[in-house]
Amino acid sequence: MQCEICGKDADTAVKVRIEGSEMMVCSNCKTLGQEVKKKPEKPKKTTKKTTKKQKISVKREKSPQRKSVYDEMDQIIPEYGSLIRNAREEKGLTQEELADKINEKSSIISKLENEKKLPEEKVIKKLESFLEIKLRE
Ligand SMILES: [Zn+2]
Repeated sequence: MQCEICGKDADTAVKVRIEGSEMMVCSNCKTLGQEVKKKPEKPKKTTKKTTKKQKISVKREKSPQRKSVYDEMDQIIPEYGSLIRNAREEKGLTQEELADKINEKSSIISKLENEKKLPEEKVIKKLESFLEIKLRE
């Protein structure tokens, strides 16, 4: 590296500002000007900017239609039997009468109340709307 002022070969050239112009000078000549300090290099950001793109691609891959089928099959609450019985008794109905109201066999009501059988989807819906209860979580 050659000093731009004295012309000497300088091992370590320093960038200085002299009368408005920047020059590469040797360490001896640098006192003639004002040292131009190198701007500290900003560490390259390692945070990936691809996150947005990735999110979009994930969204596209998932098919939302598939899940809704399973959403319909909510879990029957564990105490569904006593819930049905209590609600039925509150309405002052016998098992037979309730069965008649929702067009099901009384044996089904009996089995459901004793929790010997899990109610079918259509029965759940009928019981829920007729007895005004929630059998699913
Ligand atoms: Zn010099």
